[in-house]
Amino acid sequence: MDPILEKYQALEDRVRAYTPGLDAQRLYTAFTYADAAHHGQLRKSGEPYIIHPLAVAEIVADLGLDLDSVIAALLHDCLEDTSSTHEEISKKFGEPVAALVEGVTKLTKMQYVSKEEEQMENLRKMFMAMAQDIRVILIKICDRLHNMRTMEYQSPRKQREKSLETMEIYAPIAHRLGMQKLKWELEDTSLRYLDPVGYKEIQNELAARTAVHEEFKATIESRIAQRMAQEGIRSKVYGRVKHVYSIYRKMYAQQKTLDEIFDLYAFRVIVDDISECYNVLGCIHDMFKPVLGRFKDYIGTPKPNMYQSLHTTVIGSEGIPFEVQIRTWEMHQTAEYGVAAHWKYKQGMGNKQLGTEQDFEWVRKLLESQQDTDAEEFVRTLKVDMFSDEVFVFSPKGDVKSLPSGATPIDFAYSIHSAVGNSMVGAKVNGRMVPYDYELSNGDIVEVLTSKNAKGPSRDWLNICKSNEARIKIRQWFKKERREENIATGRAAFESEMKHAKIAMSSIMAEDVLPHILRKVRFGTLEELFAAIGYGGTTANKAVARVKDELLRLNRLQENNAKSGDFIHPATTISADSLRGSNKHSDSGIIVEGLGNCMVKFSKCCTPVPGDPVVGFITRGYGVSVHRLDCPNADPAKRKPEEADRWVHVAWLEENLPAYKTAVELYAKDRDGLALDVAMALSAAKVKVNALSARSGADGDALINVVLEVKNREELNSVINRLHQIQSVYQVTRSSGK
Ligand code: MN
Repeated sequence: MDPILEKYQALEDRVRAYTPGLDAQRLYTAFTYADAAHHGQLRKSGEPYIIHPLAVAEIVADLGLDLDSVIAALLHDCLEDTSSTHEEISKKFGEPVAALVEGVTKLTKMQYVSKEEEQMENLRKMFMAMAQDIRVILIKICDRLHNMRTMEYQSPRKQREKSLETMEIYAPIAHRLGMQKLKWELEDTSLRYLDPVGYKEIQNELAARTAVHEEFKATIESRIAQRMAQEGIRSKVYGRVKHVYSIYRKMYAQQKTLDEIFDLYAFRVIVDDISECYNVLGCIHDMFKPVLGRFKDYIGTPKPNMYQSLHTTVIGSEGIPFEVQIRTWEMHQTAEYGVAAHWKYKQGMGNKQLGTEQDFEWVRKLLESQQDTDAEEFVRTLKVDMFSDEVFVFSPKGDVKSLPSGATPIDFAYSIHSAVGNSMVGAKVNGRMVPYDYELSNGDIVEVLTSKNAKGPSRDWLNICKSNEARIKIRQWFKKERREENIATGRAAFESEMKHAKIAMSSIMAEDVLPHILRKVRFGTLEELFAAIGYGGTTANKAVARVKDELLRLNRLQENNAKSGDFIHPATTISADSLRGSNKHSDSGIIVEGLGNCMVKFSKCCTPVPGDPVVGFITRGYGVSVHRLDCPNADPAKRKPEEADRWVHVAWLEENLPAYKTAVELYAKDRDGLALDVAMALSAAKVKVNALSARSGADGDALINVVLEVKNREELNSVINRLHQIQSVYQVTRSSGK
């Protein structure tokens, strides 16, 4: 029989094995169609081209994918390399097949250039996003696997390029989809071209020890199998040397030779159910010495890609450590085929439409269980891929940008740089001019046309763009470039809104009102507020609503103060906390009961510092003046009765205190260098000195006045202590009102 026909027959048999009631005619038609389409084309190996699609279809069948997928695999290169069309394939094999072929073709056309890790992650996501149907990815991975298997016929440059791409895109995706078997082969074949020397080294060393390995494997296998038989556990036991790339990674990451690699061997025990897994584990630990800390229960806690097994490392009588993986058949299927195992199971369960949303349920679950940080991000975007709110596009240099779905060239431009967006005069997508509101799709190559003479963004762009980034940057432009204009339009809008609310502009301009208003609207000046309204950072409506609130509050406050005539005894100590609830603190570090944000001044007579018990006095023009409780000017006995309700509780804030000016007096026996010693002591105490003056008295005494800044009473006390220690100083006191 013709060898190609023989290969086809093998494929058909394989598909039939898992597809009851197979429509073999349909499969055969697909084969002959592809064969005819590729007629006369040769692979680099010199074989007829059809060998490749046949081989890919066989790998797809090996995964147990549905008939549509197998047919799509046979046709996967038809759109790209032959004269077939989507319509023709759709007519002959149905739209689902045509869509799969189209999807694979799109991925084939994608160009990857190796990038930094972040870019690679975006490429992987784009790859997934473009596929839409998970089967497209699976077929594409099979396609790549066969190409890697036959890479020897390609030029060295192509070998390197494809291998890098496989290592960076295909293998990680296979891993995340849980397809260990394919992942390993992809990694090993890539490594062969990426580091031929390293690959050969490992291969040679492994080959040199084949006999030893085989003997060791056989011994352990039969010992475990025997024990299983004794225990009456039905199982399959087999050993293997770990795959080349995993050994390679360990050798290079840990700088070890092959001899030093801890576990070169892995044995598998596959059983029928989960409880047997744990029984087997007991047996293994009974037979061999377990290595401490190497047991992992991935049954109880599956790996992010749904992998389940018990892992343990043990040492046999030969002193060679090896890993044993214990799992059920179902877990084994999932471990080998990952996502694809899903289809394998489904085949038996009566056929409903594949590739529909419910089919992604399993994939979703798989991906949702991936909790690693980068995988989590991956999950988020892959979920999105399926029901999509992100779009991935290329810059002309091949950088990938991720934008919100529905994004336009404006979003793209601002994602590069605000300067690019601001000087944009047009855009090309895939080489063609497009309007600003053109909706980008996955894989588009976007080029922004800029000009030095660009007028800058237009306000319409705010409605066209989809990303916050673009919106913010456009507003920033208006904010900066059009300040005068913004202030004018903002003022007009504000004034008209005020008029509407029946508030006179003059009512907020009063000296004691404006600061409150500005604080409330959170702007430093009215101009800033107007500018913000002008460029759209806030609205006149919002601002006036706040103004209204603040005016009402100030009015209420005034009424309350007028009513309250209670005398507050200054000796009552109050904590800052008890006031905090009802008062806003001011910048002075003092909060005043009943008054928010009032102006606070520290009395010159007693210069209080934090920690001093204090009391406040509402003065006529200066807000509240704060005195120490022991200041003679605050003595309750001397207070005028008509001013009783001017005395209010105040308290120090506990955090972010500024430095406070205060004054101390030193009395000393006069001597040479006294003032210098005082200055030195103050400098050693690291306090800021505002003034220092010394006076000699007639009786040989000296009086030194110091004005300094401290954070609180504690610091002041420590300064006073230091000053006390200066030779000939006999008294240090805080200045008090005189
Ligand atoms: Mn191909």
